[in-house]
Amino acid sequence: MQDRSESESRRLLRRLRDTLAEPARGQERLDRIVGMIAESMRTDVCSIYLFRDRETLELCATRGLNPESVHRTRMRLGEGLVGRVARTASIVNTADAPSEKGFRYMPETGEEIYSSFLGVPIQRLGEKLGVLVVQAREARAYSDDEVYALDVTAMVLAEMTELGAFTSDDTPMATPHKHPVMIRGGSGQEGTAEGQVWLHEPRVVVTNLVNDDPEAECERLRAGVERLRVSVDDLLQAASLSDKDHRDVLEAYRMFANSRGWLRRMEQSIESGLSAEAAVEKEQSEARARLQLVPDPYLRDRLHDLDDLSNRLLRILTGQGRDTGAQMPDRPILIARNIGPGELLEYGKLLKGVVLEEGSVGSHAAVVARALAIPLVVHVEGVTTEALNGDSIIVDGDEGVVHLRPDAGVAAAFRDKIVMQTQAAERFAALRDRPAADRNGTRVAMMMNAGIMADLPSLKGSGAEGVGLFRTELQFLLRNSMPRRSDLAALYARVLKAADGKRVVFRTLDIGSDKVMPYMNRPEEPNPAMGWRAVRVGLDKKGVMRMQLQALIRASNGKPLTVMFPLVAEMSEFTAARELLLREIEREAHLGHPLPEKVEVGAMLETPSLAFAPDAFFKMADFVSIGGNDLKQFFYAADRENELVRRRYDTLSLSFITFIQKIVKRCEDNGTMLSFCGEDAGRPIEALAFAGAGLRRLSMRPAAIGPVKDLILRADFAEVAQIIEDAKASGEETLRQRLVDYVRRLPIN
Ligand code: PEP
Ligand code: MG
Repeated sequence: MQDRSESESRRLLRRLRDTLAEPARGQERLDRIVGMIAESMRTDVCSIYLFRDRETLELCATRGLNPESVHRTRMRLGEGLVGRVARTASIVNTADAPSEKGFRYMPETGEEIYSSFLGVPIQRLGEKLGVLVVQAREARAYSDDEVYALDVTAMVLAEMTELGAFTSDDTPMATPHKHPVMIRGGSGQEGTAEGQVWLHEPRVVVTNLVNDDPEAECERLRAGVERLRVSVDDLLQAASLSDKDHRDVLEAYRMFANSRGWLRRMEQSIESGLSAEAAVEKEQSEARARLQLVPDPYLRDRLHDLDDLSNRLLRILTGQGRDTGAQMPDRPILIARNIGPGELLEYGKLLKGVVLEEGSVGSHAAVVARALAIPLVVHVEGVTTEALNGDSIIVDGDEGVVHLRPDAGVAAAFRDKIVMQTQAAERFAALRDRPAADRNGTRVAMMMNAGIMADLPSLKGSGAEGVGLFRTELQFLLRNSMPRRSDLAALYARVLKAADGKRVVFRTLDIGSDKVMPYMNRPEEPNPAMGWRAVRVGLDKKGVMRMQLQALIRASNGKPLTVMFPLVAEMSEFTAARELLLREIEREAHLGHPLPEKVEVGAMLETPSLAFAPDAFFKMADFVSIGGNDLKQFFYAADRENELVRRRYDTLSLSFITFIQKIVKRCEDNGTMLSFCGEDAGRPIEALAFAGAGLRRLSMRPAAIGPVKDLILRADFAEVAQIIEDAKASGEETLRQRLVDYVRRLPIN
């Protein structure tokens, strides 16, 4: 049985290779292939269906069906048996096709006389390209050997389709990676950009698909797998003991690399005639097809691991590294499945946009994209498979949409949008030096959020009056080991120098939850967002907190110092953290080091509880800053990272705005300076609502300052306050509609 399978598939593959080597292109080549397969398998019909677009399959070549139906017969994904093979990416083998569920015959093809049907998907790395079908009059199920042979042949056809082997000027056939595709994801950072694809992990190109000497090829595969195992072991040795997630992934790699089943299946493919590379890709394609059907996140992760491992093996076998020698395009838009913050920073300002197949709004990469002020779209399914280096692409960070190879109409519409955004940006730039005040002259201080040195130049360009939130954890997250005090002190000193006398609010380490430092031990937590994070870690691990406070004190060196503690839930936490700072200042004084000229100590209000703290807390704190991202997640019990719920509740709901008013009142009563530094402060309508609720300090991403200021200058806070009261009185849930109507009526600047 096995022997026959080997000869069946080897014979088919060899003949396929010979057919491909003949001087023919496009349609002629496809016609020869279906003829060859039908003869070789001694079957009445062989047909190739390819995707015209993502939803429609087209009969592109046939031996046995009515030739007139070629390029005429089309079916939708899921329609009939062919459509079923395509949709499920699995084989259909039946002796009695008409009695199969979903069977639907196409009268123009004349296929009603054929009883047996065998269809296999033509797919490459999870990308569906078409279906290869054989049919026969006689009612017989195709044997395992024949199924296998056809499957292996489909794999080679997939590679050839990818390489454009079946297209020529006279082929009315869509080539993969040529037609426009729109993919919807989630917005990670607003803005629109047009440019060309730059793949973070360029795909490996496999050109030799068929082998002549299975023994030598198996040897080559085994040598490659051995090198892979050694490299995974090396990675494991080098990985930090405390980075559990990273180690888990590497352990999974090791398990797969040592899996006998994996190796055996690849060897079997080689025995059947595939090259070592093609055998790896066959496994990889099947894993990707499974991935699309598996909802369980753990299993999906493992299948991703297998995918990564296959890529490594392919690179070993082909000798193709990441550096393919390709020239980075003029306006690169980075496409990656996922990317670490450090790697993204390395690309830095070169990039015009970032598109991630996975990623999340709160990921570190998203934070860096925000700092670089480039549009980011996350959760873009299939983009790393669909996009090729150099493809034209439009990233719409406002809508969370990506247009790959856009047609002229879409591109023109976006160019208009980009021009309008540029014009608006120019208008906003003209406001840069004007203080933000409403029509009655009530001022709002406009501050910016920052986290890396690259942010600081925006201080001048945006017209920010200072840095209202400096997220210090980014410096920790970008490294492989704990930074030294002297490095941190030098960095903070550079930040203060760049701020040139403007106030910088340094927030102490906000780690835990999604922000994980690979070198710090961290317990497994059932719900990390509500777990051991931020000031809770700082108070329990005083060594790290003290080191950071010392660095801040030394950096301020005679200048004013402003320190803010994150996620303070109770007064006692604030008292303890503040004590630590004051003690460090005393210690520095003892050591004879210069002290800050003055010190302000504040707390972030990110849990509802702090709004109900005793008056003594508000009196002790020099300032309070509302961390709206966290506060909103805890107020509504809606995880800010969970796509299913994160947009569910409106910031402009009267419940939330009333709560903000309460915080404003408590701060006013106690004479405490109050600001708002969550992302909502950078959304003009939300910012206006906050001003109406009494907030007079907002801190936001630098690019948002212009648009927010533009709206504030046209508005009247007293009118907004009245709108809030009217909405409350009429029992509405949210004030959004009233506020949007109000803004529409405002005069343009
Ligand atoms: C917030 O929670 O609003 C905030 C500013 O902090 P972060 O987004 O860093 O948690
Ligand atoms: Mg927060």
